[in-house]
Amino acid sequence: MNSKYWEADIETMPRPQLQEFQLERLRKTIAIAAHSPYYSKVFAAHGITPESIRTVDDVRKIPFTTKADMRACYPFGMVSGNMSEDAVRLHSSSGTTGTPTVIVHSQHDLDSWANLVARCLYMVGARRSDVFQNSSGYGMFTGGLGFQYGAERLGALTVPAAAGNSKRQIKFIQDFKTTVLHAIPSYAIRLAEVFQEEGIDPASTSLRTLVIGAEPHTDEQRKKIERLLGVHAYNSFGMSEMNGPGVAFECTEQNGMHFWEDCYFVEIIDPETGEPLPDGEVGELVLTTLDRTMMPLLRYRTRDLTRILPGECPCGRTHLRIDRIKGRSDDMFIIKGVNIFPMQVEKTLVQFPELGSNYLITLETINNQDEIMVEVELSELSTDNYIELENLRRAITRQLKDEILVTPKLKLVKKGSLPQSEGKAVRVKDLRDNK
Ligand SMILES: [Zn+2]
Repeated sequence: MNSKYWEADIETMPRPQLQEFQLERLRKTIAIAAHSPYYSKVFAAHGITPESIRTVDDVRKIPFTTKADMRACYPFGMVSGNMSEDAVRLHSSSGTTGTPTVIVHSQHDLDSWANLVARCLYMVGARRSDVFQNSSGYGMFTGGLGFQYGAERLGALTVPAAAGNSKRQIKFIQDFKTTVLHAIPSYAIRLAEVFQEEGIDPASTSLRTLVIGAEPHTDEQRKKIERLLGVHAYNSFGMSEMNGPGVAFECTEQNGMHFWEDCYFVEIIDPETGEPLPDGEVGELVLTTLDRTMMPLLRYRTRDLTRILPGECPCGRTHLRIDRIKGRSDDMFIIKGVNIFPMQVEKTLVQFPELGSNYLITLETINNQDEIMVEVELSELSTDNYIELENLRRAITRQLKDEILVTPKLKLVKKGSLPQSEGKAVRVKDLRDNK
């Protein structure tokens, strides 16, 4: 295959036709979901039938599905397909914060998922001749098997290296001539450090493409990864409720992630009111599966915040693009009447080479006033000259104020003095009296 597209007819389908296609699949999805104990009740209560959906906008007649609904249905209350006949795989969330959520897949679902991941990899230039190394955890984490089957579907030689053991990852890259690597962004940076410690120049390897995702990150972080490893890095978006990876992916324009609208219906809503927001405005991403037979999800509230990028993409794909994830609606905090996301603070801090990557935001009440304090670790590049540090502190405070519109109390602290977290970092401590 020598085309620019994995599936040209679908990827470049004119939008009116794509919407017709979505409508047809939405109706089919409703017919399937009606067999699940959960949706059969919801549909009965709201008079939802495939025929009641006349345009794609009629999707709004269906109530939202939340993570709490999924937990209440644990383990199989949302399954529509025949468990003993058609279920072939199950993925479950870690459940560290309560009852886990479960997604059950049929063979059709797994084939469709693998095809979407192959489509993503093809879009960023990966071909059958490539060697794809996956540094994701395998097991329940969908980044493992999701990329494994997708890369195999593409026809690439696939190396299931799994997470950790950086020296071994580098040995694999060298020995197997890995060209495409999937890594979470913080691990990609760690790998670059190990390359340096080992005295190996990443440019001397065959590595040229990185796929990064699973962890919100800024464009500055992406550029850092590209610079340190001498690669092009592409942003990947997915979540276990929507299969895993392969939901949305950057094309080589590196300007937003194409959402595969033949398989997902996308809405952006105001997280407070649930009302739809116009293209370009940041809100909560709400998703409906359009090609899942075992366990469709309708209007699932992801809690991820992003916006639809207006305009057409020069790559020729007609599927809409979303901006990188700005954070979770759960992570947003309001201080002095302003909505703030930790990512905004991070975006500012990362611009200063004198700073490390570990920071902590503390919200507290001082004299009946809400105050925001930002503590950030210095990097090796910083000086210990008091006057220079004070100037740096002022410069960062000014930048932060421009970004978040309130003036934080900023503390520069020594590298290693803030708590290090395993896994997802805790960035905000809210100690206010009235949260
Ligand atoms: Zn594009």
